[in-house]
Amino acid sequence: MAERQARGGILILGGGFAGAWVARLLGKRGRESTIVNHENFMLFASLLPEAASGSLEPRHVVVPLRMMCPRSDVLVGHAGTLDTSGQTVQVETEEELITVGYEQLVVAFGAVARTLPIPGLKEHALGFKSLEDAIRLRNHVLRRLEAAAAASTPGHRRRELTFVFVGAGYAGVEALAELHELVHDALRFYPELAQERQRWLLVDAAPKILPEIPTGLGDYAAAQLAKRGIDIRVATTLVSLEPHAATLSDGETVPTSTLVWTAGVRAHPRSRGSACRSTTAAA
Ligand SMILES: Cc1cc2nc3c(=O)[nH]c(=O)nc-3n(C[C@H](O)[C@H](O)[C@H](O)COP(=O)(O)OP(=O)(O)OC[C@H]3O[C@@H](n4cnc5c(N)ncnc54)[C@H](O)[C@@H]3O)c2cc1C
Repeated sequence: MAERQARGGILILGGGFAGAWVARLLGKRGRESTIVNHENFMLFASLLPEAASGSLEPRHVVVPLRMMCPRSDVLVGHAGTLDTSGQTVQVETEEELITVGYEQLVVAFGAVARTLPIPGLKEHALGFKSLEDAIRLRNHVLRRLEAAAAASTPGHRRRELTFVFVGAGYAGVEALAELHELVHDALRFYPELAQERQRWLLVDAAPKILPEIPTGLGDYAAAQLAKRGIDIRVATTLVSLEPHAATLSDGETVPTSTLVWTAGVRAHPRSRGSACRSTTAAA
């Protein structure tokens, strides 16, 4: 197994907002570090909806870590076992397993999507957290238009033009609004679908959308969405999901091939107590 020391003795696990900023600010004070991250860029997650709709190019929603943190060494890979007594972390790169030694450790793994044990959710829902998710969602939605254009029955067409978003926080509302625009624009090129009605549902368990912002603003956003024909279902949850149907707690089963899960995040499981599986903790 290869071995190396973190540059300047400082090892930063995770190169998202937190990790990359720590490295950058340390760099401005003349301190070097090593960042371990799954990608060689920091994702600007608040622009993911624009990347999904195509109003921004994917490369414009990321910042290369080597550019942002010129005093840091970037190691692209997955941080695995942490040995706190030996002060090392094992990093799995595409090529090999490397043991990286450190004097000071920063753990900045971020969050993971919060999922619930809803039948079919894991198998059939689309996530919206990474750049890969955004590109996948865009491709999926555009494929639904092709599926609708090729469909031979009105029910099938309607199903392909029905889009359900579960979770009406920033991510869900912005993603829905951007994709709604994308579909609206793209449908100009599908004359066979000109008379078809699209259906967009925004579902949330809370009594209103965007609970994290002042009520006036949330109400304004809800009114704007309603004006565009978005069906807002608050105080409603997803009960089960199949490849072509979503059942909601209000009793309706919605025929759809698209359900986007944007119902929040929780702390990365490896951020609690220690970065990774800690050999010290296990001992
Ligand atoms: C669609 C969307 C829109 C958002 N909009 C806003 C907004 O408008 N305003 C706002 O303030 N916040 C917004 N957020 C939230 C914001 O993105 C997060 O709060 C922020 O990214 C958290 O920063 P972080 O560094 O803790 O985690 P992250 O930015 O998630 O970074 C964690 C990094 O660690 C890496 N990592 C994890 N595990 C490992 C491992 N084992 N080995 C190596 N690397 C690992 C990940 O790949 C990732 O690069 C949005 C989030 C999403 C998903």
